[in-house]
Amino acid sequence: MQLRYQYRVYPTPGQQNALARSFGCARVVFNDALRARQDAFAAGMKISDTEVQKRVVTNAKNTPEREWLAGVASVVLVQSVRDSATACKNWFASLSGKRKGRKVGPPRFKSRKDNRQAIRLTRNGFTLRPNRKLYVAKVGELKVAWSRDLPSDPSSVTIIKDSAGRYFASFVVEVDQQPLPEINTEVGIDLGLTTFAVLSNGKTITSQKFLRRAERKLCKAQQTLSRKEKGSRNRAKARWKVARAHARVADSRRNFVHQQSTAIIRDSQAVYVEDLAVSGLARTRFAKSVHDAGWAMFTRMLEEKAARYGRTFVKIDRWFPSSQTCSACGVVDGPKPLSIREWTCPCGVVHDRDLNAAKNILAAGRAERRNACGGTVSPAA
Ligand SMILES: [Zn+2]
Repeated sequence: MQLRYQYRVYPTPGQQNALARSFGCARVVFNDALRARQDAFAAGMKISDTEVQKRVVTNAKNTPEREWLAGVASVVLVQSVRDSATACKNWFASLSGKRKGRKVGPPRFKSRKDNRQAIRLTRNGFTLRPNRKLYVAKVGELKVAWSRDLPSDPSSVTIIKDSAGRYFASFVVEVDQQPLPEINTEVGIDLGLTTFAVLSNGKTITSQKFLRRAERKLCKAQQTLSRKEKGSRNRAKARWKVARAHARVADSRRNFVHQQSTAIIRDSQAVYVEDLAVSGLARTRFAKSVHDAGWAMFTRMLEEKAARYGRTFVKIDRWFPSSQTCSACGVVDGPKPLSIREWTCPCGVVHDRDLNAAKNILAAGRAERRNACGGTVSPAA
């Protein structure tokens, strides 16, 4: 299986310039390729990937308007053309229903002002040097903070600059599966509103204090930004502050989610979670909250780690009222306002709202697993 390993890199000022040039060229080529496809589409013509590449890279280098493309590694440009082709393909596949999951929108043009600038390089565009530096074509040897060892030879690397001005190298590596010894515990997870998540075994996961504090700071920085005059220097400063706060939140959230997902995968043979796209419907009104991004990352990590360590991961993707159904008798007791944290079912059982939901998710997950070849899901036993 393929995984991404990401490290912070520290380019020198000269390398930062070279990277900026590469980011810019990759962006221009991406946009040119997109435009070429759009034009062909509008004219009712088909255009092959090779033709697009020839037009926006090979031929473009010989024109006065684009001759500066020759100043960056051509592997960067070629990958950028490929990325634009993939974006188009995903969109078409999503339109025609061939692609599963969330709908993919039409590819958008990239802007100099985008929060994330990136270039992608395949094997012929980078080398890992014996001095532990990462050589990138036409940029040089980058200093990398190797927070952990790469498990195998990477097949590609993406160099990223985020909105807070930090640089990262994200490697794609092939990793062997490492199945953990089998155990017989299963767990359902309710992504909570008052807490981060509640497990069907009664465990509650709360965001750490420093994360909550960082999130509050981010909110404040965002408010300040919204009050600054457009185009002013103070606005630029405030934007930088927001970007920094964002980066801090994202970092601590990633660490937190890593720890939590690792523990859950270690302790359970099967993990069941509600599909966010489904639960989102019921929640958008309340939970346009800082939780959203964390949940998406959380379920993604659970899925990846389950695959890697030989565990089962099931997303409950059919909507059912997990917080209205009694996990003891199966009665659907009608909607309850969020303020109600505890309720008593007509059958006499007293429920904690989130724990009850987690138990229902566990039951639905078990049912879904049993009926993997079709059939209906009923949440209660
Ligand atoms: Zn009941």
